[in-house]
Formats: sequence, C-alpha cells, structure tokens
Amino acid sequence: MTDNQRILAALRDHQHEMVAHLIRIVEMESPTTAKPALDRLAAALADDACRLGADVSVLARQEAGDIVCARWGASPGGALLLCHMDTVWDLGTLAERPVRIEDGRLYGAGAFDMKGGIVIGLWAIWALRELACLPDRRITLLITSDEETGSHASRALIEAEALAHDVVFVLEPAQPPHGALKTWRKGVGDYRVTVTGRAAHAGAAHEEGVNAIEELAHQVIAIQALTDYAADTTVNVGVIAGGTRSNVVPEQAWAHVDVRVMNAAEEARINAALTQLQPKLPGTTIRVAGGLNRPPMVRTPAIVALFQRAAEVAAEMGFTVQESGTGGGSDGNFTAALGVPTLDGLGATGDGGHALHEHVIIASLPERAALLAGLLRGMAGA
Ligand SMILES: [Zn+2]
Repeated sequence: MTDNQRILAALRDHQHEMVAHLIRIVEMESPTTAKPALDRLAAALADDACRLGADVSVLARQEAGDIVCARWGASPGGALLLCHMDTVWDLGTLAERPVRIEDGRLYGAGAFDMKGGIVIGLWAIWALRELACLPDRRITLLITSDEETGSHASRALIEAEALAHDVVFVLEPAQPPHGALKTWRKGVGDYRVTVTGRAAHAGAAHEEGVNAIEELAHQVIAIQALTDYAADTTVNVGVIAGGTRSNVVPEQAWAHVDVRVMNAAEEARINAALTQLQPKLPGTTIRVAGGLNRPPMVRTPAIVALFQRAAEVAAEMGFTVQESGTGGGSDGNFTAALGVPTLDGLGATGDGGHALHEHVIIASLPERAALLAGLLRGMAGA
C-alpha cells in the first residue's frame, strides 16, 4: 500500500465521523445575511482547526460574517485552500427540511455548496497528521462568509492570500453528475441599461412623448445579439421594467443584463458593445452601468497540470476524476485571474446546489479528502 492509499483507507474508516461533522455544521444555518449565525459557525470552525494543530485567526468583519484563517506550517508559498461557509438558505430552512440521509446521500441546505468542502478540507489535514505526512510547505485554509453575494468583504483578503501561496485549491462542489474538477470558469458580469425618453399624456399629447420602453425594446434585441455560442459568450437580458401607467408615455425603462465570458478579449468586446449602445429613437438617452464582478478563470497550462496531478493521485487511490468547467463563478475566478494556478471543484460530489434537492454523495467525502491530502503531499516535492 502506498502512503496515498493508506490515507484513503484511514479516511474511509472515519467516514462516519466525517458525516457527523458535516451534519453538525449544516445544522448551524448560515445565510450570507445572518452575521450572528455566521460568527457562531466561524467560532466552531476555528475550534475544529485548532484541534487539528492549526495556527488560527478569526478575522472580524463589520458588514459580513467573520472569516476563519487557519495555517499549518510556516514556509513561504505553499497551498491556499479556499472555502466559504455562507449559504443561500434562510434561517429556518432546516426546520422545514431537516438533514436526512437516503440511498447514500446526505440531503441538507448548504451541504453540497459548500459545507461538504469544509469538512473535506479539515479531514484532509486530519489524515495528513494522522499518518505523519503533513508536508513541510505551508497550508492555509481560508473560510470566508460572503461568497454567495459576490465576496465584497473578502475579495481583497482572498487575493492577498492567493499571491502569498504557490497554488490554490478551491473546495467548491464538484461538477455533477460525475464529480468532475473545474479547470475553468466563465467571468461573470452584471450590467444595468437605463433608457430615458420623454413623458407625455398618451391620449392628449402622444406625439410629444418619446417612449423609453420602445427604445429599450430595440436595445434588448441588440443586447441579446451579443451572445456568441461559438466563443462560449452568453448575454442575457434577465429583467426589464419601465413606465408608470398605461396612459402615460413612459420616460424611463431599464434592463438588467447578465454576461458570461471565457476570456479577456470577449470581456472587452461585450463591454465595448454595451457601453456604446446607440439610441434608435431621437430624444432618448441610454446610460449603462456595471461590468465584470468576477474575471474569467482561464484554463491555463499550469491549471491543466494541476488537474493532471489530481488525476494521477486519484488513479493511485483507485478512482478516476474528470475535468470540466462551468459558467458559474467562484472565488477561484479571483485567484486564477492573478496568475496563481487554481484548481476548483475539489469539494464534495453531489448535486442540487442552490436547489431543493441539494445533497452530497456520502462516499465522496473520504475520497475527496484523500484526493486533496494527496495533492497537498505532492506539493512537498514541487
Ligand atoms: Zn459555493
């Protein structure tokens, strides 16, 4: 048996404890908006990391939940493990839908996205310590509290930590249905297009008005046409609104637009097109606000090499992992965009993130923790 195989065996022997750990933290509900609940969870996770011998700090935040930063080893560089403890589920969800186990799956709000990943991170460290193969290189586990709302209170910290490490492992959920790792993510943009026309009485002075909704209709067609499936770019007018009453020529109308791009060139093309929209109707003006809030995580050779190392570790342990990517963003977008090799989707296998059927495949917990432990050991000689 190799050391990596021993790690997997030890974790499988402790699957029951891993599940209990996951249930304990899923039952501490933690929507992004509930700071007191997040702070309680942060304190509990800080204790967990302390018990594993980490040097732990809890970083206070005013507007968001506190952040946990746990470190093992003091060398420069090393690996950053990225997790978030916030979920999209309101307090009280658990009373409606308690945690349940069925057919080898654990159902629970936030279990897949991404408390399973937190358990995997902590138990990977446990295994490395248990088998006395914790690498010399530094490992930092960062657990943030506002990923689901755009990471405004954590982005600067995430970026600084990423730059201080050699590699970033993101413990976001694996890609369903087969638990693929993510080597790319699209950049995510958010724009608001506001049209101003001129109000008038729809009956008495129709010709004096300039209809902002009519103008917006032209613009919606133009915006939708920016989608380019060949380039994997999508542009979605997701919400529109305008006007006040049917007997008033509307002065205002606006659209809320979601943009997803694979690379900086497409980001630039879309940004230029949106900011240069020209009105069709004389007398209207268009104002465009917004931009990318997460840059694309581009599939670079360094990221592919990380994936290949993961595939080798998995093969040594007797299972396979596939490579994938997604249009959804994560904090891995920030770290990859800084040029720090980032492998994402190393969290639990399962399905239903942000959905009622959210669940984790229980058998994936020891496998994924072992995979991560193997990656961290490999780093020692890197
Ligand atoms: Zn997540």
